Amino acid sequence: MPGDHYQVSTAPPGRRTSLYSLTDGSDVGPEDEDPRCGPSTPLQRLHRSMCTDKKVMKELIIGHRVGFYKVRGEIGYGTFSRVKLAFHALTKDKVALKILDKPRMDVQAQRLLSREICNTEGLQHPNVVRLYEVVETPCRLYLVLEYAGGGDLHTRICDHGKMAANCCKVAFAQILLAIKYLHNNNIIHRDLKAENVLFTARGCVKVADFGFSTRVSSRDRALDTFCGSPPYAAPELFRDESYLGPPVDVWAMGVLLFFMVTGTMPFRADTLGKLRRCVLDGSFAVPPWVQGPCQRLIKGMLRPLPQDRHAVDQMLGCDWLLPVEFPWPLLGPEPAGWQNQDEEEEVEEEVRAGLEELGFTREHVRNHGPLDSRSPVTGAYRILLHRTQRSRGCETVPVVRGMVRDPKREGLRAYRGFRHTSKFCVIS
Ligand code: ATP
Ligand code: MG
Repeated sequence: MPGDHYQVSTAPPGRRTSLYSLTDGSDVGPEDEDPRCGPSTPLQRLHRSMCTDKKVMKELIIGHRVGFYKVRGEIGYGTFSRVKLAFHALTKDKVALKILDKPRMDVQAQRLLSREICNTEGLQHPNVVRLYEVVETPCRLYLVLEYAGGGDLHTRICDHGKMAANCCKVAFAQILLAIKYLHNNNIIHRDLKAENVLFTARGCVKVADFGFSTRVSSRDRALDTFCGSPPYAAPELFRDESYLGPPVDVWAMGVLLFFMVTGTMPFRADTLGKLRRCVLDGSFAVPPWVQGPCQRLIKGMLRPLPQDRHAVDQMLGCDWLLPVEFPWPLLGPEPAGWQNQDEEEEVEEEVRAGLEELGFTREHVRNHGPLDSRSPVTGAYRILLHRTQRSRGCETVPVVRGMVRDPKREGLRAYRGFRHTSKFCVIS
């Protein structure tokens, strides 16, 4: 696309500039070429190739490279975007590039996108897709996301039918953990559906697509925008002028669990009007062969009145999930459960060393804070951080034990203790 390309600039020490420059090449320093600077680092070599190698420059112009990422084939598409597989040219990690064409985006779409960026920025949970970087060209916006290579839940169920009970438990438990984390951070997803639940190649669940998400000042803040997918929409979204965030996500999880265990949707209709009536009537039938504890869980999430619906904490302690063994204690701050203070420092050190090996100087790192998504330094930092956390087991998938061997396990005991008390059923 003419004009839709980058040039790479190097920041003189102490000056805060982007490593990408979209406009002119006047600040491309000759120091990359200076033999007095010693052997070049991978970053310097990449810079050089982006500025002088004709093949690489052409790839940048035609979109086969975006910033530091080499773009490969398409892996998905949504209402607003195309998603492609890509590799970081330095770290070699796979990422997903969510591509949005700016000219096709109206004001509303732009607002949703900036929310998606803002709400995913800084989220770090094993079951939530991470945002590594945002790259912008005159015509496009690219969200560089963690790659989930195991497909999405919708395709999985459409291709293979309903999920086996234990697979369902393991997947649903992870969705619950993700939503608990989001709600604890005052983020309401508002578009939970099977298409937005992805898997990694190792079976770890990743909740994705924060395009409709919103950050609330407190969880009892009333919201008034109808969003999400109608088959997953709670009755209050069709009925009331305002609604509370958390119960809307809980309802969508009820529809999702119904879909996972039966392979069908609880509310079906061929028009939006009929679907609306169906949801407002609130009548659905869980097939009798679904296990009792699972039936109770579904019914608890699909209660017509939001205040009667299960709370996320309550669900984590339900009978159906009792045999699920989580890799870290359920109580305590998240995601610190899988990373104590000492470990956190070790991880940080490992990441800094990795960055330096690639050629990012301490100056680069200092000038591009970890929360500046539009910086390639942040992109590389977040990718290395995630890789290091993964290597330390942060994405260990929960397992289902044949029987509960130790009912006093820390997390479950605590959750079982409070699951029948009204205190924790209050949706706040
Ligand atoms: P919609 O609003 O229609 O749900 P969208 O435009 O917001 O879609 P996404 O839902 O984020 O786009 O992505 C569309 C599809 O691309 C997903 O259903 C999934 O198949 C694939 N996809 C998205 N993100 C990733 C990822 N991080 N890893 C692997 N595949 C992904
Ligand atoms: Mg989607």
